[in-house]
Amino acid sequence: MPRSLVTGGAGFLGSHLCDSLMASGHSVVCLDNLFTGNRQNIRHLEGRRGFTFVHHDVVHPFDFDVDFIWNMACPAAPGHYRFEPVKTTMTSVLGALHSLELAKRTGARVLHASTSEVYGDPEVHPQPESYRGNVNPIGPRACYDEGKRVAESLCFDFRRMHGTSIKVARIFNTYGPRMHPYDGRVVSNFIRQAVMGEPLTIFGDGTQTRSFCYVDDLIDAFRRLMDTPEEFTGPVNLGNPHEFTMLELAREVARHAGVACEVQHRPLPTDDPMQRKPDISLARRVLGWEPTVGIEEGIPRTLEWFRSVRLEDYPPPSPNVMQPEAQGK
Ligand code: NAD
Ligand code: UDP
Repeated sequence: MPRSLVTGGAGFLGSHLCDSLMASGHSVVCLDNLFTGNRQNIRHLEGRRGFTFVHHDVVHPFDFDVDFIWNMACPAAPGHYRFEPVKTTMTSVLGALHSLELAKRTGARVLHASTSEVYGDPEVHPQPESYRGNVNPIGPRACYDEGKRVAESLCFDFRRMHGTSIKVARIFNTYGPRMHPYDGRVVSNFIRQAVMGEPLTIFGDGTQTRSFCYVDDLIDAFRRLMDTPEEFTGPVNLGNPHEFTMLELAREVARHAGVACEVQHRPLPTDDPMQRKPDISLARRVLGWEPTVGIEEGIPRTLEWFRSVRLEDYPPPSPNVMQPEAQGK
């Protein structure tokens, strides 16, 4: 039985990954400090043979006898990481360090969840892996962006120094069931607001773009990436290249929710990237992967999940701190 450790396994992506691994016969240690994750996400796995939940903070070392380490732990939504910026940097850097040290001790292979945020507010569009980015190192997003950049550099230093087996995934905006309803990200905000009959909050004029990947497609890419030959390390962009504006997204969510598209504009947060779209040629070539679920299918599936849960079971993990003006103060 292959043995996997999923850090951040009670979160959005981590819990779907745990499902996928359990379904294909892995034993799974799901490690999480439950900052933005929720035990509800893995409730159906708890008690099943081969599944263990461990409450632990990755800033402290950990030790498990495993073959695969999937390093997902890190708050991912801007509102949460801005609430605890220093802890976010520490989680990103020390979580990667401790995953890599464990891999060095055990010979396990590490898949590290990096991000499109390493490209910052990109001047190259769409972004290929060779683009080195345009990150503001002292801005309010830097705790996350620079934390993730250091984590990538640690992966490659462990590779060069110790021959550690690494796979670095640069994940672009992903959405789906089990996104925290109060994580402040755009898809969860719009869907929650539509379900609750509130206006959809658009930051800025809504012309900024993103490209959204449905979670099942991303997990498929993770599994393919972990299975690539030893010499393939990435970084590799994983995301859906279909790009649209936040205004278009608002209209789509309202249409699928069957509500009028009433929007409320708020100030654009500092350093908010104006556009983002992955160049996924490398993933297509090496992983033989292509996203298959568009928003016309993914939004209804996500809406269905939001309608099926009790929102009070998902208390906001943090006050969701954005810059003061974005909160209307
Ligand atoms: P999430 O917040 O749902 O999951 C993160 C998980 O990590 C949560 O369960 C949280 O409780 C846990 N965690 C946070 N700090 C921890 C700590 N110090 N110790 C142990 N556990 C800790 O977010 P997600 O969307 O599932 O993101 C998972 C990973 O993927 C993150 O590393 C994130 O940076 C990366 N990523 C996600 C996206 C996306 O669009 N979802 C995009 C780019 C990168
Ligand atoms: N956004 C928005 N309304 C919201 C939340 C976010 O218009 O209620 C915008 C945000 O300013 C950004 C885009 O949507 O331009 C995506 O934001 P998200 O936090 O989901 O992801 P990221 O900025 O990390 O790509």
